[in-house]
Amino acid sequence: MTLPDYAAWQKMATDFRHQTKAFIGGEFVDALSGKTYETINPATEKMTAHVAACDGHDVDAAVKSARAAFNGGHWSRMAPRDRGVILQKLAGLVIENADLLALMECLNVGKPIMEARMADINLAAAALKWYGEAIDKLTDEIIATPDNVRASITHEPMGVVGVVVPWNFPLLMACWKIAPALAAGNSVIVKPSEQTPQSILKLAELAILAGFPEGVFNVVTGHGAEAGAAIGLHNDIDCLTFTGSTAIGKKFLEYSGQSNMKAVWLECGGKNPNIVMADCPDMDKAAMSAANNIFFNQGEICAAASRLLVEEKIRDEFIERVAEIGKTRVPGDPLDPKTNLGAIVDCNQFNKINSYIEKGVEEGAELVLGGDTTKVNGSGYYVNPTIFKNVRNDMTIAREEIFGPVLVAISFTDIDDAIRIANDSPYGLTAGIWTRDINVAHKAARDLQAGSVSINSYSSIDIALPFGGYKQSGIGVDKSLHAIRKYTNIKSTWLELD
Ligand code: NAD
Repeated sequence: MTLPDYAAWQKMATDFRHQTKAFIGGEFVDALSGKTYETINPATEKMTAHVAACDGHDVDAAVKSARAAFNGGHWSRMAPRDRGVILQKLAGLVIENADLLALMECLNVGKPIMEARMADINLAAAALKWYGEAIDKLTDEIIATPDNVRASITHEPMGVVGVVVPWNFPLLMACWKIAPALAAGNSVIVKPSEQTPQSILKLAELAILAGFPEGVFNVVTGHGAEAGAAIGLHNDIDCLTFTGSTAIGKKFLEYSGQSNMKAVWLECGGKNPNIVMADCPDMDKAAMSAANNIFFNQGEICAAASRLLVEEKIRDEFIERVAEIGKTRVPGDPLDPKTNLGAIVDCNQFNKINSYIEKGVEEGAELVLGGDTTKVNGSGYYVNPTIFKNVRNDMTIAREEIFGPVLVAISFTDIDDAIRIANDSPYGLTAGIWTRDINVAHKAARDLQAGSVSINSYSSIDIALPFGGYKQSGIGVDKSLHAIRKYTNIKSTWLELD
């Protein structure tokens, strides 16, 4: 596989024409109000496009189109195997367009082009393919009954699914939801984050080429408080699946209660503990993993290993190793294939990260790396890799999700102390533990309140594994076969024979 070089990516960026319309009923359309909003490139701070600012009227049009497609049955009643073939075709088209899609993520999010190309796009295609391959392997159930009865438990698509997603992995987060929802036979209405509409709009276009009937896959662009809330409150949407902050996730629960009690699935924030015991089997690997899992994607990751819990006796030595690796993450032009730290998504998020850094200093934490910002070629929202030590778990920087390249290190005395600190959080998304002791590993895996626990690694990426949170990190899971059932109603049928 030959990938473009820096000059080629720059040329692609210059030539790229941003999509400005929403996608409803198989067509690109302006917002009915004619209103638009601006997207910017966070690396240049320049405006990139005026995109359709949809509101409740556009959502209504999208719901009508999605409902008509669902009731028409071309997709919802298609044999699962045939739906699977079309999903796999879409996965193939994503790979064929991988450079273009990566460019879109790079320009909208500010993330390094190679990370977008090798992680976001490949993983998005893999999710579409996996659900395409899986959907005809599922079976329904027949229960034990008297001879004159046939009683079955079947799963039916719910209908119209509203998909509201964030900006950090725009296409990937959407595909983790769209792929199982579509595989199950639903129609979808996707609302990308206002900052990052491009890749999802392109996916909708590719879906038509792959063979999806019109109206099955709609994209409504615009602001959360307008387009997002209209999806949440719509009386003819059957299910909401959301990835984003805990605060907005709670709003979706309210929207459901205020409207038609639609099902709500939430993937929300995290403040994830990564526990390093003094008997860690491989300090270099653990240090590399600790650094990569907070500085990758500028730390804008729900599953970031953002709280480093390190045993007191190895504290300084271990933090020093992580800091050395952190220094190798250098802010650069996201279009340069060598760049390993991109720009922060926008000015608001940049200011939010900086205010957390100030708060950390105010509250008495000690900066051991970074804490400052920079520009690349005179522009951009760049935050240098930052590490705090001497952090207490009650400090703001240990409790709240920073969503930036900021690691907070907290020391502990023994495994009980570590688990107590780890669980003392409103969140419970992911966790890691590094130890040679199988008893300690087992205890941690059992007692950590998190949807995913990694032992001697920090990873939760395999599509076959469920990904979801305990506590205020969410409700339900993305990925794996478990995600498909979220988008179905269970029906019991009792057939009494003569
Ligand atoms: P956000 O909650 O601000 O926005 C997410 C989506 O909700 C966007 O599409 C936005 O337009 C929409 N929205 C915003 N306000 C709304 C409202 N009032 N009504 C309806 N919709 C509204 O999140 P973000 O800043 O885009 O993303 C960062 C957050 O996402 C972080 O908290 C991160 O942890 C979380 N996240 C979680 C996961 C996971 O799988 N658990 C994955 C990625 C990101």
